[in-house]
Amino acid sequence: MSWAAAVLTLFPEMFPGPLDVSLIGKARQKRLWSLEVRDIREHGLGRHRTVDDTPAGGGPGMVMRADVASAAIDAVARDGRALIYLSPRGAPLTQARVGRLSEGPGAILLCGRFEGLDQRVLEARDIEEISIGDFVLAGGEIAAMALIEAVVRLLPGVLGAEASPVEESFSRGLLEYPQYTRPQDFEGRPIPEVLLGGNHAEIAKWRRQASENLTKSRRPDLWTKAEG
Ligand code: SAH
Repeated sequence: MSWAAAVLTLFPEMFPGPLDVSLIGKARQKRLWSLEVRDIREHGLGRHRTVDDTPAGGGPGMVMRADVASAAIDAVARDGRALIYLSPRGAPLTQARVGRLSEGPGAILLCGRFEGLDQRVLEARDIEEISIGDFVLAGGEIAAMALIEAVVRLLPGVLGAEASPVEESFSRGLLEYPQYTRPQDFEGRPIPEVLLGGNHAEIAKWRRQASENLTKSRRPDLWTKAEG
């Protein structure tokens, strides 16, 4: 059984978009994962297939209707999958959550637009809210793509053996050490000596130290957690 993503969106033409290139795209051809894209507007109301309305209590913009969003959700078979609304108010997406999602059967991803979604559908369908960062996008589509891409690269068979996800940033709660390749001298900057010596224990020690230093200086929040 391959990992199954379903995306509910008002802009289905955005998909698969960037999810169709490189390793992620090839993995879909190999059926390591699948993508079902559903147009929320199919559940819109009336001749104009209306999906939104003005916010109760006033204010700018439009809000996606609970009845329309729930109809779109209910039309997709759940199949034990995570049900997620991409939202700036959600829990920040972490590599740990991505890893757990990759071990499950898939995810149903609801993409908002406008001012967001009627609160009642989030409660009535017990929807998990996930944010991809402390900034506001115009819609949930790019956030859904980011989540899918992060999950799919962890699925067995997607990355080549040489591109192991075990060592990289966040996998041990640390940022990844700096990488170098040829030329040995770039504008007067040499590659650190130890990396050219072939002493694997020394290299591992240098990388570990570099990871720790980077994490301490750039992400003290992660460092506090890694230590604890
Ligand atoms: N007024 C809302 C923002 C709406 S942005 C608020 O302040 O919470 C429109 C849509 O973009 C949202 O419904 C959501 O699906 C998506 N979106 C915006 N920023 C996001 C983020 N950081 N992470 C995930 N989804 C986001």
